[in-house]
Amino acid sequence: MNSQLSTETLDQKTQNKTAQVKEIDVVIAGAGFGGLCMAIQLREEDNDNFVLLEKKHDIGGTWRDNSYPGCACDVQSHMYSYSFAPKDDWSKRYAPWNEIQKYILDTADKYNIRPFCRFNQEVTSAVFDEESGRWTVKTTSGDVYLCRHFILASGPLHVPQIPKIKGLENFKGRVFHSAQWDHDYDLECKNVVSIGTGGSAIQYCPEIAPKVKKLHVFQRTPAWVLPRDDRKYLGVEKTAFKLIPGWRRLHRFRLYWTNESRVWPMFNPSVAKSLSQIAKAWIRFQVKDKALARKLTPDYTIGCKRILISNKYYPMFNRDNVELVTEGIKEVKENSIVTQDGQERPIDCIILGTGFVVDPRIYMKDFELKGLGGRELNNDWKDHTEAYYGTSITGYPNLWMLVGPNTGLGHNSIIFMIEAQVKYILNCMKAIEQRESDYMDVKPEAQEIYNVELQKLMKDTVWSSGCQSWYQQADGRNTTLWPKSTWKFWLETLNVKKNDYNFIRLANDQIGVDYSADAQAENTETADAATKKPARKKRTSKKSATEPSAV
Ligand SMILES: Cc1cc2nc3c(=O)[nH]c(=O)nc-3n(C[C@H](O)[C@H](O)[C@H](O)COP(=O)(O)OP(=O)(O)OC[C@H]3O[C@@H](n4cnc5c(N)ncnc54)[C@H](O)[C@@H]3O)c2cc1C
Repeated sequence: MNSQLSTETLDQKTQNKTAQVKEIDVVIAGAGFGGLCMAIQLREEDNDNFVLLEKKHDIGGTWRDNSYPGCACDVQSHMYSYSFAPKDDWSKRYAPWNEIQKYILDTADKYNIRPFCRFNQEVTSAVFDEESGRWTVKTTSGDVYLCRHFILASGPLHVPQIPKIKGLENFKGRVFHSAQWDHDYDLECKNVVSIGTGGSAIQYCPEIAPKVKKLHVFQRTPAWVLPRDDRKYLGVEKTAFKLIPGWRRLHRFRLYWTNESRVWPMFNPSVAKSLSQIAKAWIRFQVKDKALARKLTPDYTIGCKRILISNKYYPMFNRDNVELVTEGIKEVKENSIVTQDGQERPIDCIILGTGFVVDPRIYMKDFELKGLGGRELNNDWKDHTEAYYGTSITGYPNLWMLVGPNTGLGHNSIIFMIEAQVKYILNCMKAIEQRESDYMDVKPEAQEIYNVELQKLMKDTVWSSGCQSWYQQADGRNTTLWPKSTWKFWLETLNVKKNDYNFIRLANDQIGVDYSADAQAENTETADAATKKPARKKRTSKKSATEPSAV
């Protein structure tokens, strides 16, 4: 009956009579590292009552999309992998993209996640209905899901940033973004422009430089690039990791603490300043031409923007066919690019290494996210984005974000943060059950206190030492990074601070719904019977309250 009621209500709201409405406990949007981790851990908790919606054709997120030459992780693979799904035979300390992507797909198969995935389904809206305590989640395919929990795992770096350059549309050569690499285009003997000197460009430029006729690297702001302590793992090491799990764990433990120690200069700008001197000497040592070395040397403190790592980037500028261009771009013509000083360079191809749209208010501007009382996230976030532990947002009950505001890292593995968040979300779900409530909503004052403290800490970090970076929003507020050690995030999210939340019990009991219908049935039909787990039993308590109440 509840199902019928909800469906009717939804139909009235959406005016979409043809949409297929499916009831399910949890909807996850995004099948990258975050969404996959959530899916696996739900299964581990015996909850198969979820669906994983992905706008593209496969699982993988960042590592499915980015396949440019030299694409690799900046965090060591034994650390940049799930703690619960170790891989003994990583080829190198920093694995390339395809090895990471294979790891993601293998892990998805190991936990039999594919039957729960719906590909080519972009979530376009999620609206909370306080009467039923459900989220109505709509996708581009026309499917509509009614769920108790909506997990937003849509990732922080998945929408390419395309710069506005005069005349770009008239260019007769090839243009592509690093995240949409055109592997069919042969760069051999071509005149190529690469725009941007961020994390992607410093990886692909040294790889393509030996192939192309001429590579013009357009730099607006130089990045600090430190050596990458990369090497292949020996066969004996891989065997040891396999046969002695404690050895592998010790290796990961060592990597974790080595990375963690790097956060110290971030919290102590004076230490970072001293390190800048060493990094400067490194540039001078790597780049033969002194004037060029100077152009490549940043004028801000190391760490203020993301530190990049490469052993190939600076030496690349010693090549005769590589030019560093620091003049701004005036315009692009049919077969050339013109800089502000009037110089015109003939070119065949433009590669946009211009990064990603990182502000969720921009990349989610068409995403309708409505919480209590019809409040809209776009409006609540109009000044700046903020959340509670990057996971809950006041006014949006049972909405859980992964890699939300202020959970990003400059020094360690985001997967560590994702795992902590997923554990926290599962604990929140349990807290709802334990309190016999229907949904929980972080209190505005708790979110406010949390963020005031966070921003206070941010003021003393190197990230606030005077540069402009993608970590910040227009008002200068750093809404990207976690300004403490990662173990503190883990510790602070280990238990749900229940006093920071309102727990709401619905007036009329909507909870006895048999979620095993619809999407649940779809999942279990396709899931491998051998690994299939029983659906979690739903609470069916009867309540007599007439108004929603905080419990
Ligand atoms: C080139 C590159 C290199 C990186 N290197 C590092 C590194 O070295 N170390 C590090 O810690 N991090 C790195 N990152 C950051 C990286 O994004 C994270 O480490 C991690 O992959 C984030 O996982 P995620 O699941 O949160 O997001 P993603 O991997 O971006 O996955 C999000 C998924 O959600 C899907 N999606 C988005 N919107 C919707 C929607 N509305 N409906 C349905 N599906 C949707 C996307 O298609 C995508 O599959 C790098 C990122 C890039 C782009």
